[in-house]
Amino acid sequence: MTAHSLIRVAINVPLRKSFDYLPPPDGQYAYALPGCRVRVPFGNKSVIGIILEIHNRQSDFELKAVTELLDTEPILDDKLLELLNWASHYYHHPVGEVIAAALPAMVRQGKDITQETDTFWQIKTDLRGIEADLQRAPKQRMLYEIIAARHGCYESSLKAMFQSPQPSLKILQKKGLIVRSKPTGNQQSISIKTPDFGLNTAQAAALKAIISADKTFHSHLLYGVTGSGKTEVYLHASQHFLEQGKQVLILVPEIGLTPQLLESFQQRFQIGITQLHSGLSNGERKRAWLDSRSGNARIVIGTRSAVFTPMFNPGLIIVDEEHDGSFKQMEGFRYSARDIAIKRAAMLNLPILLGSATPSLESLHNTYQSKSRLLTLPERAANAIHPQIFRLDMRNQKLEGGLTRTTINAITEELKQGGQVLLFLNRRGYAPSLICSDCGWVAECQRCDIRMTVHKRVQRLRCHVCSHEKPLPGQCPNCDSHNLINIGQGTERLEEFLGRRFPDTGVLRIDRDTTRRKNTFEKMIRSIRSGQQKILLGTQMIAKGHHFPQVGTVIILNADYGIYGLDFRAQEHMAQILTQVAGRAGRASKTGKVYIQTRHPEHPFFISLEKLGYEQFARELSHIRKKTSMPPFSYLALLRAEANNKNLVEKFMQYTTNILRTIPANGIDILGPSMAPLERKAGHFHMQILINARRRQALHHLLNQAITQLDTSKISRRVRWSIDIDPYDLY
Ligand code: ADP
Ligand code: ZN
Ligand code: ZN
Repeated sequence: MTAHSLIRVAINVPLRKSFDYLPPPDGQYAYALPGCRVRVPFGNKSVIGIILEIHNRQSDFELKAVTELLDTEPILDDKLLELLNWASHYYHHPVGEVIAAALPAMVRQGKDITQETDTFWQIKTDLRGIEADLQRAPKQRMLYEIIAARHGCYESSLKAMFQSPQPSLKILQKKGLIVRSKPTGNQQSISIKTPDFGLNTAQAAALKAIISADKTFHSHLLYGVTGSGKTEVYLHASQHFLEQGKQVLILVPEIGLTPQLLESFQQRFQIGITQLHSGLSNGERKRAWLDSRSGNARIVIGTRSAVFTPMFNPGLIIVDEEHDGSFKQMEGFRYSARDIAIKRAAMLNLPILLGSATPSLESLHNTYQSKSRLLTLPERAANAIHPQIFRLDMRNQKLEGGLTRTTINAITEELKQGGQVLLFLNRRGYAPSLICSDCGWVAECQRCDIRMTVHKRVQRLRCHVCSHEKPLPGQCPNCDSHNLINIGQGTERLEEFLGRRFPDTGVLRIDRDTTRRKNTFEKMIRSIRSGQQKILLGTQMIAKGHHFPQVGTVIILNADYGIYGLDFRAQEHMAQILTQVAGRAGRASKTGKVYIQTRHPEHPFFISLEKLGYEQFARELSHIRKKTSMPPFSYLALLRAEANNKNLVEKFMQYTTNILRTIPANGIDILGPSMAPLERKAGHFHMQILINARRRQALHHLLNQAITQLDTSKISRRVRWSIDIDPYDLY
């Protein structure tokens, strides 16, 4: 490094630029590499940044020096840094914030990350003869068995599998069953518990496709109905790469789906597995991140931001439930973890496997364009039969608790046979509105243009948009009448009704309100699978990839809102939910039944979906998208702005529109500015401009120029504005 070298640093601030510094004090020069953390003066503060590059270009400013170099080797390797830089450009988001999103809090805060010494446990005595000793201590026994099967194991790996294993390990040590020792070296060899069935033809074909070119970038879409054995393909494909000493990264859309997948992988592989999601403490997250980086963890299962986990020797990336909107971050750095995963696989030259029972139109389109290979699992693996579907006309029916007579009979019938019933209602709370029957007053949020939801058990009114809440009024605030009535039905109300109607059965409600506490969701899923709970009721939390083999009857309430949804993805989304929920029925050996309550039983949406099946139906939706020039046939960016002053947002948006319209661009439509579908949210006025481009290049070119102008304008500092590339919805 010459004396003139400058260090360019990314800092976690909402500015679309990076910052130059002079090198750190003597002695630290040699180690200053891209990907290392540094402490730098910024304004009148001292902050942590990441070195992006070391360069010799002139600077026009008087520069300060790096205060301290925090790492002697990069914490982010070149490839990961390249990916983050790419993401910053692609999403037009400040690189410092992009990198911050990729790091666990403790790493971001500059904490020391040299690996703490990790205890390595080995067995001392053979289990024979001491079985009685461990009979009543299942956790100790499990720990012992894992340590034995792996010929020794790091405590950190055990921590990734069990909650606080230390007390049990201490007891095992006291009993003389295990000892601390040096790693024997063969702990990385994997022991595999093979299942007692082989892959069926479709699974075997899929596996072959995935592993046939195992060292080059290939994108595969594994499309298989629920229960068709996708997880089994994930397991076999992973095995192939693990046996080569490589790592596997698995992304799931929601934290609730990690335990299930974790269990499948733990049962199959006695190997370092770690998980990364928001349910971990900061320390656990750092640990998992380091384990993945060092190669100590061979399998990493995580939610959205795990796509950025550094890996020592990556071999395969799997994205489960790839169609799920939760892969899209909707605030701040608005990225799609699925799309970044594909980019990462391409940069690393690895295969990527996207799995779903209801693939997104984007991913299906990629297969039609031969950018991705379609691997289909057409049948249910364990020979279960496809469910029967009944549409129930709700018009002119006497409803009881929102249910038709046929629906209630279906529940009764299923319960009589000892099976489980699952009711799906995508609306939590007791009732979506509260009105006064005397004067017509409606409970509305003061800060949003929306009605407040009644939550009866806690006696509160809550806004589901801004979370504002207040006590449930006993009388009308307008006319003092006591005739306040609940309109409509949420999960809480349905639970109350079912509890009354089937008093001997018990009802389990699963929604955001009943699963707030840590681990309750997991416990509920387990109690469903054990068959204890007979009537299950929930929002789309239960529509996602869970295995409930004893559910014989599925009931879908309020299916109509999705058909008439305004968003361009509304029908795709509804088709996915219906197909997923229906897929919960009759997974084991008996035919499942699905009842859909609707006021539009003859709507082409239902008829086509049933007649054509999901894939053909998706093709039809695709034709509509093509005709209307919407994704995947065009590329969207949504520019949003908000302020507490309506005039100000309007002025900013007019200004922005003028900029956009004066930049020469081909094949681009600029729609707006318009008020956002929900004009007032949390006291702020929201407006948006939709940019629709035939070519992605043109879109980015336009945005780059517009942003440069916006960033230097005064008015842009008086509103909150953002850019959403490939928006998931237009709200
Ligand atoms: P998906 O992930 O597509 O929902 P899974 O892989 O979990 O499906 O498989 C569903 C069930 O079928 C599981 O209980 C699994 O053990 C079983 N299964 C998977 N593949 C086979 C196979 N080839 N033969 C028999 N059973 C299978
Ligand atoms: Zn009133
Ligand atoms: Zn509100």
